[in-house]
Amino acid sequence: MIDTYRHKGMRKRLVETIRARNIIHDERILDAIEKIPRHCFLDSSFVEYAYQDKPFPIGKDQTISQPTTVAIQTQLLEIKKYDRILEVGTGSGYQASVLYEMGARVFSIERFKSLSVSAAKILRSLGYTGIKLFHGDGYKGLPGYAPFHKIIVTAGAPYLPEELLKQLKIGGMLVIPIGESGTQIMKRYTKVSDTEIVEEEFGDFSFVPMLKNKQE
Ligand code: SAH
Repeated sequence: MIDTYRHKGMRKRLVETIRARNIIHDERILDAIEKIPRHCFLDSSFVEYAYQDKPFPIGKDQTISQPTTVAIQTQLLEIKKYDRILEVGTGSGYQASVLYEMGARVFSIERFKSLSVSAAKILRSLGYTGIKLFHGDGYKGLPGYAPFHKIIVTAGAPYLPEELLKQLKIGGMLVIPIGESGTQIMKRYTKVSDTEIVEEEFGDFSFVPMLKNKQE
């Protein structure tokens, strides 16, 4: 899918909308949103929706997160260049591309094979070949690639998956919306030492649920 001046203009307006909310201070995130053609992550008939600050269906009852939500989770991760990041819930691949644009090394896991395959196609077509995608159950993380500096979960988890905490480096952070389906509270867990975890809360959100086991 091509990226036209019209798309670029819509993206600029989207960034202004996010900026006006006064929540995002990390300019690198706004730069990434301005750069990445979000419309390429949606079905071509929905270009008009790609640059509204709203979530949108991507198939299999899943959604691409609202741009402001992507920005908030990204900001909470305090990304540094070369950070190893695990994303649970690849979905469209958009969030992964934002992290990658910020210089992170991104590993992303998705339970639906078909979503993982279509995200791989989109990311490849945009040149994001460095993003590593996996088909699997995010509750288990990616033990073969751990430890990670940061972990982001983009589905609503009913509880804190202990396995993900285990796969964090000391000093690492896990950003995860926790709660039953409907609404969750955005939490950030910082692994201060092997035995000490600091927990912070960042308000209510509404994500699709984090479910067990991988699916075709
Ligand atoms: N980050 C995505 C939005 C994801 S929506 C984007 O930028 O488009 C949440 C995704 O989490 C869905 O694709 C869903 O299938 C996936 N998911 C839910 N439970 C999961 C699990 N246990 N492991 C991996 N992925 C999961």
